[in-house]
Amino acid sequence: MNMPFAASEALRQQDLDHHLHPFTDHRQLAAEGGPRIITHGEGVWLWDTQGRKLLDGMAGLWCVNVGYGRHELGRVAQRQINRLPYYNTFFQTSHEPVIELSAKLTGLLPEGLEHVFFANSGSEANDTALRLVRHYWQALGQPERRVIVSRRHAYHGSTIAAASLGGMSSMHDIPGVPIPDVVHVGAPYAWESGKAMEQEHFAEVAARWVEEAILAAGPERVAAFIGEPVMGAGGVIVPPAGYWQRVQDICRRYDILLICDEVVCGFGRTGNWFGAQTFDIRPDIVTMAKGLSSGYQPISAVAVGERVVAPLLERPGRFPHGFTYSGHPVAAAVALENLNIIEREGLVEHVHDTVGPALATGLGRLADHALVGEVRTLGAMAAVELNPENMPGTRDLPSGTLATRVRNLCFEHGLVTRAVRDGLVFAPPLVITTDEIATLVDILSSCLDEVAAQVA
Ligand code: PLP
Repeated sequence: MNMPFAASEALRQQDLDHHLHPFTDHRQLAAEGGPRIITHGEGVWLWDTQGRKLLDGMAGLWCVNVGYGRHELGRVAQRQINRLPYYNTFFQTSHEPVIELSAKLTGLLPEGLEHVFFANSGSEANDTALRLVRHYWQALGQPERRVIVSRRHAYHGSTIAAASLGGMSSMHDIPGVPIPDVVHVGAPYAWESGKAMEQEHFAEVAARWVEEAILAAGPERVAAFIGEPVMGAGGVIVPPAGYWQRVQDICRRYDILLICDEVVCGFGRTGNWFGAQTFDIRPDIVTMAKGLSSGYQPISAVAVGERVVAPLLERPGRFPHGFTYSGHPVAAAVALENLNIIEREGLVEHVHDTVGPALATGLGRLADHALVGEVRTLGAMAAVELNPENMPGTRDLPSGTLATRVRNLCFEHGLVTRAVRDGLVFAPPLVITTDEIATLVDILSSCLDEVAAQVA
């Protein structure tokens, strides 16, 4: 299915002429001659216009959980478009796909989350959660409870509210962000700030940062804590054992709502349906997107527990919030079928029993490599933290240079990964086989060797 070279180059030029990309340095893109253009995918594999085959170690953007090429999802979308392509869920109306999806989701979510609100992206889901918790406290006569506690390195999206919730400094590098009343505490990131500590002790220290922020803001002003069970875009930061239990206890002690952002961790990624189940968290609110439809349609959701939903169901008045496409019928139908696929094919068990152990063993073997500092894995997500300090030739490189070099080489050798600070992260489609994991590890290993030889 190779595209002729001239046609491919013309497309690249058109892209440079007219397309503004997210999170992209356009001067650099132009200097590189334009983007790689992906044409199709199958399973964990992608192809570009030059016929190059790539193992997608990132499932797109952490989302294509069931893998590429699922024609059954195309058929469901087509059927739904022909039957009812759109209707809204405002003003006392509903439709079958959104009703069925709501019921299905509540059966998979951690216990007690019985109601679901829909949006179109992870960012919108988190915006919704923020508005919802403030609406909740207002309904309870405590409108001063506005503060949201989040963490550095968190990624919660790109809208103004979601970027404010996130804790990456680069996301705050636009005037007006973060919005007031969002505070960020340290992440449970041992490689950064807890190397010398026992896990259990670091869990205590990192949870104490949460409590200190609550006390500094005044508990009577704090509405909620938000966290990804495992931070994804921040670098696959797997928290130390005991961290989440402590954070949960702190939230309960000060009567603060707990929001789990499951946009990355949800739908099997950690070896359970949700990261909250992996860490035994009982959240008041869960936000989801990505794996909800495996990226086949834009859809996100906010699941709400009994406590937060009670004022919505029992009091007069309404939550003044919603999107034209909240619960879009085509997206909902595709999401429903995607969940059926995950269930039918036992993909959550596959991650738990096969992908997780194989990634941990395969990548774990690289932990002794001269360029590698630490390997972290949980289920179908992993980080290979490089250690520029290890080699004289890399010690003085600006942060991120080494990881970017390895990432670019991986691309050339047919593996998609992503550089985060001085590390590489992986989140392949959940359908990945042990042979494909071996290929992923082999490519990464040879790229590490090649870069190590260059910098030795
Ligand atoms: N939350 C998390 C944990 C994410 O990783 C992302 C996106 O990567 C988002 C929220 C935002 O999702 P979206 O890009 O769909 O707005």
